[in-house]
Amino acid sequence: MSEEKKIILVTGGSGLVGSAIKEVVEKDKNSQEEWHFISSKDGDLSVKADTIRIFENYKPTHVIHLAAMVGGLFHNMAHNLDFFRTNFLINDNVLHTAFETGVEKVISCLSTCIFPDKTKYPIDETMIHNGPPHDTNFGYSYAKRMIDIINRGYYEQYGKKYTAVIPCNVFGPHDNFHLQNSHVIPGFIHKFYNAKMSGSNEITILGTGKPLRQFIYSFDLAKLIIWVLRNYNDVEPIILSVDEKDEVSISRVATLVAQAMEFHGSIKFDIKAADGQLKKTATNRKLRSLMKEKFEFTPLPVAIKETVTWFNNNYQKIRK
Ligand code: NDP
Repeated sequence: MSEEKKIILVTGGSGLVGSAIKEVVEKDKNSQEEWHFISSKDGDLSVKADTIRIFENYKPTHVIHLAAMVGGLFHNMAHNLDFFRTNFLINDNVLHTAFETGVEKVISCLSTCIFPDKTKYPIDETMIHNGPPHDTNFGYSYAKRMIDIINRGYYEQYGKKYTAVIPCNVFGPHDNFHLQNSHVIPGFIHKFYNAKMSGSNEITILGTGKPLRQFIYSFDLAKLIIWVLRNYNDVEPIILSVDEKDEVSISRVATLVAQAMEFHGSIKFDIKAADGQLKKTATNRKLRSLMKEKFEFTPLPVAIKETVTWFNNNYQKIRK
């Protein structure tokens, strides 16, 4: 007997993660899946009426919910209230409209940066609510944590299996390369590009360069989210991260971006600027134990090089 066809709605489908999922499913077509990728042009998901209209239009059976107000450390620090309110409204509208329209499965997106500031390492899926998040991004963090509360509620009251994935830092083509409001890798790529173009032989990075982070290439994350859609049926969230041994310092990332951009000047660190959390090491043990095949992550230098090539080839039309 053939399975029912899945109609999959991807919110935030024009962003970094959404575009990567789109590229992966276009290469790996499945006749039992019909995919729709939407952006803010289809409607504002922080507005309930727009959300209802979108769900009535696509009639999804499954939702991958990526849409969010997203930004780097300095953007978060200056706009914690906006990050909380906008993301909370988007998440409640999407999850409740999914529930009201009978959507079978919703996969929302948390982040390893929403975990408690003071915690044991490595971080795992059970620790989300074990203490306050770092002060720098409390708005974004609490809005994301509420997704887990809402998912638990829909399961306990209505038996709905809505879940969430927890990626580490993501980067790749279609990222936001804005110099102030971006995450660390796209921000560095743009900064090093400007330095190279202006013929500068010195660049200054904010912070000490010492914090450690795990970075996942958007195409690797896309493949793992598709695996979750097809194979993971729990309500508890699942961490989608590179291995613990692949954690790198910000200064190493700066060196890799400089090499990929062929910037040969010196890199200085402004140690008076904020560093954010010193590390957020997460374990992908649960993912590794559930996936039958051994997933190979793209090596960081390769993924950074590909992203820099994409940035150089698309400079005129990228988000910056
Ligand atoms: P992007 O900023 O690249 O994309 C955001 C997407 O959300 C865009 O498609 C945007 O549409 C859409 N969007 C934003 N606001 C609204 C709104 N009010 N109504 C409708 N659509 C909206 O995000 P990413 O791809 O980086 O992130 C995807 C998910 O992954 C997010 O939930 C994020 O929190 C999470 N995440 C991201 C990480 C990262 O390092 N980037 C790390 C861990 C988790 P438009 O293009 O039209 O503006």
